[in-house]
Amino acid sequence: MKKILLLFSFTILFFSCKKQNSDPYTLPDAYSNQALGTSAHDLLSADKYTTLNIQVQYMPGYQLDPAAITNVTNYLSAICNKPGGINITQTQITGSGDTLNPSKVAALEKQNRTAYNSGSTISLYILVSDGYDTSVSTLGFSYRCTSICLFGKDIFDHSGGTGEMSRVNLETSVLEHELGHILGLVNLGSPMQTAHQDVSHGNHCANTKCLMYYAIELHVGLGLFSTVPLLDTNCSNDLHANGGK
Ligand SMILES: [Zn+2]
Ligand SMILES: [Zn+2]
Repeated sequence: MKKILLLFSFTILFFSCKKQNSDPYTLPDAYSNQALGTSAHDLLSADKYTTLNIQVQYMPGYQLDPAAITNVTNYLSAICNKPGGINITQTQITGSGDTLNPSKVAALEKQNRTAYNSGSTISLYILVSDGYDTSVSTLGFSYRCTSICLFGKDIFDHSGGTGEMSRVNLETSVLEHELGHILGLVNLGSPMQTAHQDVSHGNHCANTKCLMYYAIELHVGLGLFSTVPLLDTNCSNDLHANGGK
C-alpha cells in the first residue's frame, strides 16, 4: 500500500515538474510521461497503434532469459490486438551496483531509453536492474504509462533454489504482472466489468490465484506459486472490454 502511494505521489511529481528542462525524470516524449494505466486502450486495441515495440535494457548479468521473452510475447499476443506484431529487443546498459527507488529508476530511464511511439507503433520500456529496491520487498514495479522496472538481481537471488520458482518462471510472473498494470489492471484504466479489486492492496485482484494478486510482485509472494499464474476471468474480461482480444 505504501508502495502504491509512493508511486502515485511520484506520478504527481512528474506532472508538477513537467515543464522544467532541468528535470531529471521527464522523458522527451509527452505521451510516455502520462500516468500508469493511461495507455491501456492504446495497447489493447488496434485503433491507434497496430504494432508494439518493447525496449528492454538490462544491467550486466541480468539479461532476461530468452524463454521469459517468449513467454511474455505469447502472453501479450493473446491479449493485445497488434496485427503488425509484438517485437522485444534487449540491450545492455551500464550497471548501477546500487539500491534503487522510483526516482533513480526514472532518471535511468530518461538517460537510456530511446524507444518511443512512432506512427502506428507504440513503445514500452523495461529496465532490468542489478540493484535491489530500497525497501527490499519489491521484485518489480510499473510506473508511468509505458515504463516498468524489474529488480534483476533480486529475482536472480530468489529463484532456482529448493522450493523456489525457476528464474524463467519468476521473471515471467513479475513481468506479466507489471504488464497487467500497464494494461490497466485492476481498475487502473481498464474499467472493472465485475467488482474484483482488492482495495486494501491498491490496484490488485482479490483472487489469490490470479496473476494480478498483489503478492506476485513482492517478497511475501515468493513460494506461493511454482508455475506462472494466469489472469483470471474477471481480469481477462476487463481487458477484453477495453479493446483487448
Ligand atoms: Zn502489482
Ligand atoms: Zn484477476
